[in-house]
Amino acid sequence: MMRRTAVINARVFDAPRGVLIEAGSVVIEGETVVEVTSEPRDFADAQIIDAAGRVVLPGLIDAHVHVTAVSHDLLRLAAQPPSLITAQSKGVMEGMLQRGFTTVRDACGADFGLQEAVERGLFAGPRLFIAGWPITQTGGHADPRPKGAREMFCTCAGLGLYGAIADGVGEVRRAVREQVRNGANQIKVMAGGGIASPTDPIDGTQYSMEELRAICEEARAANLYVMAHAYSPQAVMRAVQAGVRSIEHGNLIDEASAKLLKQEGVWLVPTLATYAALADEGQRLGWSAAMLEKLARVRAKGIESIHLAKAHGVAIALGTDLLGAMHQRQSEEFSLRAAVLSPVEIVQSATISAARLMDQEGRIGSLARGAWADLLIVDGDPTRDVGVLSRPEVSLRLVMKAGKVVRNTLPTPAARTLSVP
Ligand SMILES: [Zn+2]
Repeated sequence: MMRRTAVINARVFDAPRGVLIEAGSVVIEGETVVEVTSEPRDFADAQIIDAAGRVVLPGLIDAHVHVTAVSHDLLRLAAQPPSLITAQSKGVMEGMLQRGFTTVRDACGADFGLQEAVERGLFAGPRLFIAGWPITQTGGHADPRPKGAREMFCTCAGLGLYGAIADGVGEVRRAVREQVRNGANQIKVMAGGGIASPTDPIDGTQYSMEELRAICEEARAANLYVMAHAYSPQAVMRAVQAGVRSIEHGNLIDEASAKLLKQEGVWLVPTLATYAALADEGQRLGWSAAMLEKLARVRAKGIESIHLAKAHGVAIALGTDLLGAMHQRQSEEFSLRAAVLSPVEIVQSATISAARLMDQEGRIGSLARGAWADLLIVDGDPTRDVGVLSRPEVSLRLVMKAGKVVRNTLPTPAARTLSVP
């Protein structure tokens, strides 16, 4: 018989409804949830985890990470051998899992080898949904060549952070098909300028409509969807019109583009944590004045873009987009959003909303029958004060991924008995 575990005395977060189920139990068989109930049950045959009245959340989802961005210096990283990057990404992924992220959507970089390494248990990390290489035009956000340089290192280095540089409908179709062939779960396109790239203005658009449509068509042909890097209203609107599923960052959106996002059912994935981290550390890390100026501009607009999205009813998922040592600041994303979103909305953006974006509702992002047994036991109530999730080192008492406990700082039963007056 399959191993049964019951998490009892829990206030279980019902992610779709956004409420806590009092006095709940989560019953797990093997790797999946078989029941969430507030009815009394006999758990005699099960291993018991007593949540002692604490809140239980579904495992968190970060919908925009780069687990292979093991250094903030992306150019130097691109010259490192894949083996060294892989070895370092182990620590990045372990950190994410310890912060309660049991699933992450990699927004380019990670490949099927890393995904397999996690699945086989060679690396402890979140479940990975990979994009492979980003699709970028010549001079686009994932073309790292400095002005004047014609050719550069082979892009086989850097483990996929840099793009499949493709121009024209034929080339973009081939580039998408290559990612599909290599096991991508979603396709990433650079649809506008970016901060970390040397030659593209932040408010520019990238790719023709023809090319963007061809990219979306190829993704759909493989039952995949497209996530688009875009900041400016024009870049956002063109990507949405071409058929992408999510806009990444989107800091500069306006009323019209927010309306269009809602109308077309496209997600916004803001990534506030990376701007906060870079604003603190960018100068020390040697970022150029031009890059820091682009950064200041989008950072100031980050909260405003979420405000606009919320006002128009746009679906929002949680992302972070951190680099190198700044990964440690991943959980800051929760408190950064608290200026515009309610705690429940923020927790939903990191659970059920992200799961829907990724076509994984019922598998991740909610504790439903048949879902992966990914769950957290937390001190404090994140549905009232989402800041507790920004302090995972103290608030996360237990992390379970696919039925396996990967972090546990709950008091031992003996300690608990002693503390009873
Ligand atoms: Zn990114």
